[in-house]
Amino acid sequence: MVKKVLVTGGAGFLGSHLCRRLIMDGHKVLCADNLSTGAQKNVADLQQHTNFEFIHHDVTSALHVEVDEIYNLACPASPRHYQADPVKTLKTSVQGAINLLGLAKRLNIPIFQASTSEIYGDPLVHPQQESYWGRVNATGIRACYDEGKRCAETLFFDYHRQHQLRIKVGRIFNTYGPGMDSADGRVIPNFINQALDNQPITLYGQGTQTRSFCFVDELIDALVLIMQSPDDVTGPLNLGNPVEVSINELAQKVIKLTGSKSTIVYRPLPGDDPVQRCPDIELAKTTLGWSPKISLEKGLIRTIEYFEREIAKAR
Ligand code: NAD
Ligand code: UDP
Repeated sequence: MVKKVLVTGGAGFLGSHLCRRLIMDGHKVLCADNLSTGAQKNVADLQQHTNFEFIHHDVTSALHVEVDEIYNLACPASPRHYQADPVKTLKTSVQGAINLLGLAKRLNIPIFQASTSEIYGDPLVHPQQESYWGRVNATGIRACYDEGKRCAETLFFDYHRQHQLRIKVGRIFNTYGPGMDSADGRVIPNFINQALDNQPITLYGQGTQTRSFCFVDELIDALVLIMQSPDDVTGPLNLGNPVEVSINELAQKVIKLTGSKSTIVYRPLPGDDPVQRCPDIELAKTTLGWSPKISLEKGLIRTIEYFEREIAKAR
């Protein structure tokens, strides 16, 4: 069945991949974005498509549209961006969730929330399971993002309990791939661009902190699967690749794969930077039949090729 799907944050990294996937699957897509960290160039290839429509919209204001499904991805995801205007970040997660849940309630349609591994804060349980309540510093510099996303989850579950709304909550772990903004400050675009330029690789802290990186195409598969899942699948479901690497190892891999002459420079570790992060994805495996297969090396090679093309275009 052809559906009309609202994707908020659709001009961002994940949102643009999701819009493209939904168009390829034959659906109509309404992409709503305030272009704060996203850009229309990310969806330029979709603009001519009759099934695609872009609207400049900020989710902190109500949206009056008629659609069949909502994916709420609107929120800056890079610490550099979400910390630049922390009050706006909180409003985006909280007021944005209220507005979109209200829309979903009026239309009686399912709604997906792009939640995050940041729900777990600096976790004491490892790997992180959905049953772990997390350890977030409510007054720290990451709280605008972490607490905003936690509050959004609360709102989703209260709308579900109070209004029987069909909700889908995915806790997304670090995702990377072609289409990332080279300047958004996240570790993979930073390291690849530094390496391609033979500039020093900026390692924050000692680089012993860990992350688990999922290639974007596989993450998008999971978003589509969770939306298609039966009504009683509400999540939260961890969505990520459970292969954990230290940031040091990541830097070495990027240097090797790019054949770079870059050296490593050590920079102070930002406040509240989680020490370790790795998803337990058993629930997603059993509920969605989903588990990522693309290795970090393979995904990095495709991402390096993307940034090489971007650099060549800019010349
Ligand atoms: P991104 O910054 O590339 O995309 C976010 C998009 O939301 C941008 O297009 C931005 O312009 C838009 N936006 C921000 N505030 C808005 C507002 N008030 N109104 C309308 N649009 C707004 O980030 P991303 O990596 O694509 O992340 C997308 C979503 O997935 C976010 O909600 C993020 O929290 C979540 N997430 C991403 C990751 C990841 O590793 N990429 C991990 C966990 C969660
Ligand atoms: N990081 C780093 N150098 C950089 C950018 C990030 O060492 O140039 C580290 C950062 O401190 C964190 C990890 O890489 O420990 C992942 O950072 P990112 O901002 O990509 O995501 P998040 O911290 O939200 O997982």
